[in-house]
Amino acid sequence: MALVTLQTIFQDAFPAYEQTHLLPMHVRRAARAIMQCRTAALGGHVQACPDGHMARIWYNSCRHRACPQCAYLQTERWLARQQARLLACDHYHVIFTLPHDLNPLWLANVSVMTTLLFQAVRDTLGSLLADPKYLGAQPGIIAALHTWSQTVTVQVMKTGLTPQIAPSDRLREAETVQRHPAEPLRRPL
Ligand SMILES: [Zn+2]
Repeated sequence: MALVTLQTIFQDAFPAYEQTHLLPMHVRRAARAIMQCRTAALGGHVQACPDGHMARIWYNSCRHRACPQCAYLQTERWLARQQARLLACDHYHVIFTLPHDLNPLWLANVSVMTTLLFQAVRDTLGSLLADPKYLGAQPGIIAALHTWSQTVTVQVMKTGLTPQIAPSDRLREAETVQRHPAEPLRRPL
C-alpha cells in the first residue's frame, strides 16, 4: 500500500478543491510547494558513481515554511526559541477566533487584517490584565497565527509573577487570580 502523506493528499485532492473554492494567492503558493516538493517539477541533480555502477536522482526541496518535509527542523528551532523565552511561572493559553462573517474581508486583505487582529489581541489582553480586578500587571505575550483555521493562539506570560519585579503582595494577588482567572482566559496551562 502506498504511503499516505500530506503531499499525496494535496496531490490527489487540491487540484479539484481549488477549482471550487476562493483561495488567496499565498494559500495556492503553499499548496503548490507542498505538492511539488522533492519531485521532478522542482528540478534536481544526479549523484552517480564515476564507474557507472550506480546513479541516484535528488530532487530539490521547496523550502516553504508550510511544507512538513522542509519545515520540521525550522519548526523545532522556533519552538526551542520560544521555550527559552518563557518565564518560570504559569502561563495561560488563549485563543481568539475571527468571526466567520469577516472571512471574506480577511481573504481580500490578509496583511492588513493580520495586523489589526494582532493589535486587537494585544490591546484586549493588555487592558484586561492591567485591570487590578484581574491581574493588575502588564503581560508579556507570545502570539502565533493559525491561518488554516483563522484563529490566533496566544501565550500570555504573566510578567507580574516574576520575583524580580513583583512584590510579595503582588504574588499573593496573582495566585488568587490564577485560581479565579479572568473570564476570557479559558484555561491555565
Ligand atoms: Zn518542501
